[in-house]
Amino acid sequence: MKDRAISGKTKLCGIIGDPIEHTMSPIMHNTAFKTLGLDYVYVPFKVKNKELKQAIEGVRTLNIRGINVTIPHKVAVLPLLDKIDSLAEKIGAVNTIVNDEGVLTGYNTDAYGFLQALLEKDINPRGKRVLVLGAGGAAKAICFILAEQGASLVILNRKLELEWAQDLARHIKQNYSINVSADELNKKNLAPVIPDTDILVNATSVGMSPNSDETPVDTKLLCSNLVVFDIIYNPLPTRLLQEAKAAGARTIDGLEMLVWQGALSFEKWIGRKPPVDLMRQSVMRLLQKNEN
Ligand code: NAP
Repeated sequence: MKDRAISGKTKLCGIIGDPIEHTMSPIMHNTAFKTLGLDYVYVPFKVKNKELKQAIEGVRTLNIRGINVTIPHKVAVLPLLDKIDSLAEKIGAVNTIVNDEGVLTGYNTDAYGFLQALLEKDINPRGKRVLVLGAGGAAKAICFILAEQGASLVILNRKLELEWAQDLARHIKQNYSINVSADELNKKNLAPVIPDTDILVNATSVGMSPNSDETPVDTKLLCSNLVVFDIIYNPLPTRLLQEAKAAGARTIDGLEMLVWQGALSFEKWIGRKPPVDLMRQSVMRLLQKNEN
């Protein structure tokens, strides 16, 4: 791994969002570029809602090779692109843009990153019964990739936004012939579903720092038959994952999804596989540094 200077030939990738200061993507991608000796840099761009159109024009004008898109632009960016991958179109959200000489194509590597994190642990979701907690942006991407893989789904979301969960279930039924239902996230609904669940996914923000003492599932409901995937990556592990592990369940943390979505974006821009282990280590070091 050699240090290198930015030159007139250096190519650019980056991420747009607001806020953007917390992003882990620059450390992951710059680690990969440096390790592979690629003359690229990856930088964060804070872009407000009203600046999104100009920012996307800027990707073309400045010949930026690839851009990640994060909150709040993942949905609003769709009409600004030239082509959209079919799964990203169904999900209605894009987190990765590839610029081929001014032609911008959008993908959703959050969805594929989640799937890859499961496959890396030899867990194939086909035919599995999956309980997804949450119906926000990440839950939506996860539900669509699981439906595409032939899993059956129960989606639970807190009462306030139950209609979102029901809309999501309806939307999935329109696209895939799988069993999918939606209900309110509470103890009464969780208890009967968990014994019939193979994979439990927390896609809510419950348990995320600074509320790391919270958990969306009562410890007593956790058992060794489950795979528990918590997509939160701060803290690592979450209370849910600690309790799931103690109950004998297999666990997967949010860092895996984060790293695999990044790795898949990288492949789309560069056409090479990145050093995933080094990307993972770079994020872990940054998370530990931020804790201190
Ligand atoms: P989002 O669109 O804002 O959705 C948040 C979800 O959490 C909604 O379903 C929301 O329910 C639910 N929620 C929030 N507070 C709750 C509470 N007190 N009780 C029950 N449910 C609650 O956010 P998102 O983008 O989907 O992200 C969700 C989490 O995933 C965040 O922690 C984020 O950091 C993480 N994430 C990780 C990755 C990764 O790569 N590992 C990628 C994306 C997101 P309502 O609909 O009722 O508000």
